[in-house]
Amino acid sequence: MSEALRYSRQQLLPEIGEQGQQALASARVLLVGAGGLGAPAALYLAGAGVGTLLIADGDTVDVSNLHRQVLYRRDDCGDSKSDSAQGQLETLNPHVNVESIDERLDDEALDYYVPEVDLVLDCSDNLTTRLAVNRACHRHSVPLVFGAAVGWDGQLVVFDFRDKGQLGGAKQPCYQCLFGDQLPTAQASCAEAGIIGPVVGILGTAMALEAIKLCVGVESKTLSQLQIFEGKSFAWRAISLSANPDCPVCA
Ligand SMILES: [Zn+2]
Repeated sequence: MSEALRYSRQQLLPEIGEQGQQALASARVLLVGAGGLGAPAALYLAGAGVGTLLIADGDTVDVSNLHRQVLYRRDDCGDSKSDSAQGQLETLNPHVNVESIDERLDDEALDYYVPEVDLVLDCSDNLTTRLAVNRACHRHSVPLVFGAAVGWDGQLVVFDFRDKGQLGGAKQPCYQCLFGDQLPTAQASCAEAGIIGPVVGILGTAMALEAIKLCVGVESKTLSQLQIFEGKSFAWRAISLSANPDCPVCA
């Protein structure tokens, strides 16, 4: 089978071409969480030929995941998500180096993995991990694609910490800045509040799109712009974020 054909349709795009394909092949991307967001994101990134994918998730596949976590099959139930994801992604594209990290990443683990990659996708399902991922990406100047979804709605934002938080002269915000002076409170999880499968699929797929753009150098309109998707009305709204001068992470 000709591997030149595998990427031929995306390489037709002038923004990709041979150079973009090489940029994807040399990219190392960490996905924190391999659930509803991470599953479609990982499939598209492996399909696109991202050279190295680190898949971190400490959970096992449950039958209640299958309506939205499109990486997994009935036979995977009870198995490690990161190991199952690795198997599926290697089947899709054996040229991608997939590493399974079968754990929930804490600050110490993030300090180990984040400096090793070019880009992080936060596909996690809890606030503690999100705040830790934001801190680690800011600390190590690694771009962060953040996504979340619950119920019928989702959110996405890109933070490019490579330029130490500067963007066109203005200081860039970080994820923690979203909460202003309020200490963030725990947010409802999909297990508590429910989730409609395609919404998390839309957000996870959009995260993969933004990741590919970052890898090949296509400008993103989601940089420091919180994109809010409302599934029932099928509407996208954008909110410009500004840095909190008292932010404990980026100020
Ligand atoms: Zn901040």
